[in-house]
Amino acid sequence: MSTQPIAYRIDLSEATSHRFLVSLQFTPADTSTTLSLPVWIPGSYLVREFARHLNKLQASQTGRACNITQVDKATWTVACQPGKTVTVQYEVYAFDTSVRAAYLDANRGFINNTSLCLRVHGQEMQSHHLHIEQLPKDWDVATAMRPLPAARKLGKPSKSTRSFQADSYDELLDHPLELGTFWRRQFIARGVPHEFVVAGAAPSADLERLVRDTQRICITEIDFWHGRKKPAFDRYVFMLNVVDDGYGGLEHRNSTALICSRRDLPRLDQKESSDGYVTLLGLISHEYFHTWNVKRLKPREFAPYDYSQENYTRMLWFFEGFTSYFDDAVLLRAGLINAQTYLKLVNKTLNQVLATPGRHMQSVAQASFDAWLRLYRPDENTANTTVSYYSKGALVALALDLSLRTLNNTNSSASKASLAGVMRRLWALQRPIEEADVAQALQDEAGGPPVGHADHADWQSLLTHWVHGTDDMPLQSLLQQMGVQWELAQASLSQRLGVRLKETPQGLQVSAVMRGSPAEAAGLAAGDELLALDGWRLKRPDDWQTLMGTPSLKPLLVSRDQRILSLSLPILDKAPTAWCHLVNLSMPKATGPSLKRRKGWLGC
Ligand code: ZN
Repeated sequence: MSTQPIAYRIDLSEATSHRFLVSLQFTPADTSTTLSLPVWIPGSYLVREFARHLNKLQASQTGRACNITQVDKATWTVACQPGKTVTVQYEVYAFDTSVRAAYLDANRGFINNTSLCLRVHGQEMQSHHLHIEQLPKDWDVATAMRPLPAARKLGKPSKSTRSFQADSYDELLDHPLELGTFWRRQFIARGVPHEFVVAGAAPSADLERLVRDTQRICITEIDFWHGRKKPAFDRYVFMLNVVDDGYGGLEHRNSTALICSRRDLPRLDQKESSDGYVTLLGLISHEYFHTWNVKRLKPREFAPYDYSQENYTRMLWFFEGFTSYFDDAVLLRAGLINAQTYLKLVNKTLNQVLATPGRHMQSVAQASFDAWLRLYRPDENTANTTVSYYSKGALVALALDLSLRTLNNTNSSASKASLAGVMRRLWALQRPIEEADVAQALQDEAGGPPVGHADHADWQSLLTHWVHGTDDMPLQSLLQQMGVQWELAQASLSQRLGVRLKETPQGLQVSAVMRGSPAEAAGLAAGDELLALDGWRLKRPDDWQTLMGTPSLKPLLVSRDQRILSLSLPILDKAPTAWCHLVNLSMPKATGPSLKRRKGWLGC
């Protein structure tokens, strides 16, 4: 078997037509070598078919063309002689602005190697070299991949070439690269060098503040997992692409790719934190938390990843949901938000789940398994039949954290029990985990059975009920025991009717109708344009609210597929209804055990 490194040369000279020209060299061990491109990128659980952008595939050896046979949508075999270098050439069209694929134009490039690098089957554990070539004069490259010291051997080092290395194909795929002219700053967190790279920010953006706040997040999370010790990784890169309107992030072992909107960055003249900036800090915190939770502490099904098909797991409620719970909790712990703001974020997640009828149809374990089918393909029926493993998963984490914290003065042996302790116990296992490991870690952290949950003699039973069931969790009583007040919130008219609306240039359009709601009973359907209510033209969302008047049945005119339909809409009083009971959380004056618990949880 060959020990030659596998080398990819990525040529940027066709940037204006968004094409990466790729040349791959390897030494075959046999008369036929299989090559394939991943169909998905870890962290984003949808088959994305990256091969649809791969074109003009050809191969040669000792100056002669090799026969290539396509085996399936993303796999080819190359006929070749063993022991002699094969050169494979192809181009990849890259015009995807998300963090999940690849992008190239005259101003910027972004590479996920899942989009660009064919896998040489049988040689995945060899060293993989990546050379970025024809880099425009003022461009730079940011990545957590190690630079290749042997680059000198290629001849005289060229400014337009940058070379990197990874110890395996798996590692190669886990290092995205940002290319272009960008702003960069380095900082240290608990002894580990970090870098923050920002592309596309407006001149008014306070990027120094962004980096200072990020450093606090990093230190808080390293301390969360390791005490004040140095973590197991030796470098980390944040790559933020700032755009007119966008949001997203994807986690990697030593880096993360992020997208935010320009308006969400703090301005130089701004001291307070806007909601958009808090959301961005939450995203940074979320992706960095994944450095442990999912990139190193993994579900058994991801060890190793299979890049050729869906990788089903029932545990995304843990890897995404618990990460969503801790991302904002880290902001509180780092002093970047106060307890009131934190409680508002918890409240928002709670109301998102309460406004989803699908929470009674689908468990979070099922939602995890169905991620490949449903999460990334939302439609008008999504809220009726599915629940998000992010938001409900975060509530499972909240319910478990509070259940552990309520033990703190009933059971002296567990005087400091919390979900953070559970995470550290799971980390200490240093192996892929399954649901039973979470139950065991809860049991160990609590030092006894759950208290106050009748019908559940042990933590596995409680966990099964919340993760595989569709009942609402007892969050009201858990929050009340923490000194947090739970009141029914004043829902909007649309929420009480069970309809989601969007504004269009023409007026108001129905985007979803909730299962079992008055809007459904009235015959409204997704896509309907709302024309008039009780003889009045509806144009803006405010019209809807102001024209409603007293509780009664009102005539509603809608347009569906060019036809005008007359419906009757029941106008409701303000009482909560079966499909709509949103809540308001607040912190009244507390005393005794509930104050003590709240101090432990929220710090006040
Ligand atoms: Zn995530």
